[in-house]
Amino acid sequence: MRTAEVTHRQGTEQMDALLRESHFHFLARNLKKALNAAQIALDFARQSKSEQDILKASLLVATIYNTNGRYLSEPSFFAKANTYLEEIEPLALRSGILTEVDFYKTKSEILLNTGNYEEARALLGKAIVKSTGHPRAEIQLLSLRSHLELLSGNYQEALDFVQRGLEMLERNNELEKDRTLVAEIYNQMAQVLIKRNDFSRALEYSQKVLSLSRELKDAEKELSALNTMAIVSSVKSNYKIAMQYFQEVLDKSEAIGFRHNIAHCLINIGTIYAHLYNYDDALERYDQVLLNYRDTLDDYTKVVIFNNVGNIHYTTDKPLLAKEYFEKALTYAQEKHFKEESALALAQLSRTHTAIDDLKQAEILAYQALEQIELLGDINGKQINLINLGDISFRKKEYHKALELVEKGIEAARKLHDDASEIKGSRLLAHIYETLGEYQKAYELLSAYSTMQEAFVSVQQSRQFMDLEIKNALKEKQKEIEQLTKENEYQALLLEKSDQIERQNQELLQMNEDLRQFAYVASHDLKEPLRMIGSYAQILERMYGSKLDEKAKTYFGYMIEGVARMNSLLDALLKYATVGKSDEEFEQIDLNYMVEVSRVNLSVLIKETKAKITNDHLPTIYGSKSLLVQLFQNLLTNAIKFRKPDTLPEIHINCVETADEYQIRIRDNGIGIALENKERIFVIFQRLHPRSKYDGTGIGLAICQKIIHRMGGRLWVESELGKGSTFIFALPK
Ligand code: ADP
Repeated sequence: MRTAEVTHRQGTEQMDALLRESHFHFLARNLKKALNAAQIALDFARQSKSEQDILKASLLVATIYNTNGRYLSEPSFFAKANTYLEEIEPLALRSGILTEVDFYKTKSEILLNTGNYEEARALLGKAIVKSTGHPRAEIQLLSLRSHLELLSGNYQEALDFVQRGLEMLERNNELEKDRTLVAEIYNQMAQVLIKRNDFSRALEYSQKVLSLSRELKDAEKELSALNTMAIVSSVKSNYKIAMQYFQEVLDKSEAIGFRHNIAHCLINIGTIYAHLYNYDDALERYDQVLLNYRDTLDDYTKVVIFNNVGNIHYTTDKPLLAKEYFEKALTYAQEKHFKEESALALAQLSRTHTAIDDLKQAEILAYQALEQIELLGDINGKQINLINLGDISFRKKEYHKALELVEKGIEAARKLHDDASEIKGSRLLAHIYETLGEYQKAYELLSAYSTMQEAFVSVQQSRQFMDLEIKNALKEKQKEIEQLTKENEYQALLLEKSDQIERQNQELLQMNEDLRQFAYVASHDLKEPLRMIGSYAQILERMYGSKLDEKAKTYFGYMIEGVARMNSLLDALLKYATVGKSDEEFEQIDLNYMVEVSRVNLSVLIKETKAKITNDHLPTIYGSKSLLVQLFQNLLTNAIKFRKPDTLPEIHINCVETADEYQIRIRDNGIGIALENKERIFVIFQRLHPRSKYDGTGIGLAICQKIIHRMGGRLWVESELGKGSTFIFALPK
């Protein structure tokens, strides 16, 4: 008796250990190892004939098969999972509510994965009722039910269920400490919020999920959180950050063999590239998906890809290729009754026929599209179709009809925020007016169009620029990863590092982009009214100057001076906004030579102030000539400008070499900078002295900072008030 008890206990311990091990691997999505351990556990359980153990192990084996099926999009695994469940069904139904509920939960998960939503819904409903009084189980079921509603497109219901789960959790102090449960419900909440376009809250929840999942080593929740964060960033046009998140999701999904996720990640990355006008990289991603992961795609996603790829070919003037893809999109969309996508495909296909001058077919397709679109209302594709129909009428010399259609098309494009179509439409409209001899109207349209085009190009350029930055960042990250892998400690360090980089990038990028756009718009648009104030003030003074008294004349003087000053501020701002935006070449550059060039450029100032500029031998670095000259000139000008009244300026430049960077130091004997101002001076428009004492706009150092960032370096100052300053910039070797 006694011995039997001991062996039984030992058996149970071993069993628990195996189940724990399996569960641990399962969480980290190490599915092979998880399955292995669970299956051994099941063998044990069968030998010992312990019903509870058999149930636990079988449920786990089924869950693992189910997940594996989902990862690989492999139906036979779902069937296998089902077999395990069927075996234990009678057992499960008579061994207590919790096991029964667990059984239903696993079963509905399989039904969910095999697309049997109705059955899953019925089963879950039953399980939720049964779980009353067992809040932990009930919350899990509510979360799963919410997931089901999300997949079926019932977003409001999805929200209701997850909300119920969350409230239940918040009412229960004990359960609130259950991190697994909290992660589960928060994750579901984030998924729902994304679908309901509530991005800020989705981000909040997914950030919490991210840290919880990392503590719990739950690979899938971590991926899910990162994915949500990527989507939010992408929606908010923070493409660079989005890309970094997606890349991380991609790497991790590859590591655990989550093929379905890999495919979706590649699609998202491709779509971002397309937004950034980097069509080559976008196509590469889409092709990869179609080639290697087609089996994991649902039909809707396939149609979206075909439409996207077709659109890229159309935009890059490959109408024949475009036609091929739109035709595929159309076939699938019609077959599966995806009405919006099929209308879009029709409109696009028609436009492609117009491009190859096959007007007859173009017209047939366009009217088909029109019919569908009218049923659906203001959907994407409407604008394309109307403008295309206008184009067809124009080509058929039916000008008035063309006018009407294109005008409607432009209006629709505006509503749908499709700048490219709006521009295309305006250009066409101008062309029609021109043909009709209405030159005034054509002219007005063209000039409006050119402003629009300018804005569009500037967005396009800034996105292309972002694309370069992303490439750079990814390359840097790749290098870092290689480095860290070599150093062996990579897990912990990598996580910490990438977190840090993400945070910094997020802040920096957002700030820079906001500032750049603001600065550009402000400096551009403010100049016009300013010019007007200036001119009219001058005219007034010229016409009525003789009638004015001395006081009024002084005021006029102030006014004109103010205008001039604002003008120079705007110039400076514009310069700041555009610095580093041109495609300056990066090459090996001898810094000695850069100092020489700056010295020549500043020769007048140097002579006037009797400044002495000396330098030690400086290294050759990788950078841009035009940026470096600007940098030296700004720093040298400041070093001379902020001299002590009674001392001749003496400036010395030298270089300190560290393991991975060159630090170039520019030391002056000027007035110095107080400790508390050392950071402030690099901020745009920040100055420490009145203009009567030292002239300037406060933008020089901000530009220097930008230049240095562009070259991947850092800039700072060491100084003491009254004792001169040393500006130091460090560039990577
Ligand atoms: P600006 O020179 O046009 O005023 P900057 O951005 O170049 O604008 O400089 C910002 C402020 O930093 C200056 O107004 C000055 O107070 C301080 N500063 C810059 N360089 C020096 C220097 N070499 N010595 C002392 N103060 C300096």
